[in-house]
Amino acid sequence: MNQQLLLQEALSYGRPFTRYGKPAGYIPELAKIDPNRLGVAICSLEDGSIITAGECDAYFTMQSIAKVMSLILAIEHNGFEYVFTKVGMEPTGDAFNSMVRLDQLTDNKPFNPMINAGAIAVASCIRGSCLAERQQACVDFARLLTGNPEVDIDFSVFRSEKATGYKNRAIINLMKSNGIIDGEVEEHLDLYFSICSISANCKDLSYFAAVLANNGVDPRSGRELVPLRVVKLVRSLMVTCGMYDYSGEFAATVGMPSKSGVGGGIISAPIGKCGIGVYGPALDVKGNSVGGLKVLEYLSDKMGLNMF
Ligand code: GLN
Repeated sequence: MNQQLLLQEALSYGRPFTRYGKPAGYIPELAKIDPNRLGVAICSLEDGSIITAGECDAYFTMQSIAKVMSLILAIEHNGFEYVFTKVGMEPTGDAFNSMVRLDQLTDNKPFNPMINAGAIAVASCIRGSCLAERQQACVDFARLLTGNPEVDIDFSVFRSEKATGYKNRAIINLMKSNGIIDGEVEEHLDLYFSICSISANCKDLSYFAAVLANNGVDPRSGRELVPLRVVKLVRSLMVTCGMYDYSGEFAATVGMPSKSGVGGGIISAPIGKCGIGVYGPALDVKGNSVGGLKVLEYLSDKMGLNMF
């Protein structure tokens, strides 16, 4: 079937489900977004061309999806071994912002880089002489991986999250007292909120997903953007931890390395097949886009993308 038609069908399948969710309320700026939005984009690994359906030009904050980018950048800055002295690789089965187990570990490391605690520890490894330089490094990297020079930090969401991020502040302080964080907590936390507030559209997400599905190679230029060893690690963490405490069921039913964010985006990177970006700000209780999950379920089934 024609892919354009397939995307339209996937949207029609997912749309009715958006009414069962609502935008993330704990970040005031996100609570204002229209919950009925839904969009999907697929990027070809052959030439980087993108086909879309629905809400694909609207910019929204990547939130936890950017945790994938910051992990790659932190590894680029410090090497694999160093970063994994700060964070582990195990799924938690807990909510993304949970801190219950942070104080119960022998090595004190947060479980994995896809939950808030792990991503904050990873952000603390991103180098630069000051906050502005570190923010710029993250934005430049996001532009490279999405192929879109317009990608930037949405400072209204940043300020909103910074003003209300008590839980994340508690998490970083606990990790600081447990010896995981070097340097000043406030600057690292600002960097983490900036990374979450990087704003992109559905097409950009599909492009980034295509780079991951294409073993780290930019589908347009043919240039290697991420080393294969790192891509393999990132994709495996996306499978085991990328959809928060829904990762197990998502792997069992949809079967694609994926990462969601509370801005409503999800990336999926079926290996060697294509890159997919979806956007639907109505979230379920676990923080995943309700409509987005249904769209991915539909595409995985109809396009034979389930890796298992
Ligand atoms: N910025 C969000 C937070 O720290 C990211 C969480 C998410 O997308 N799951 O809570």
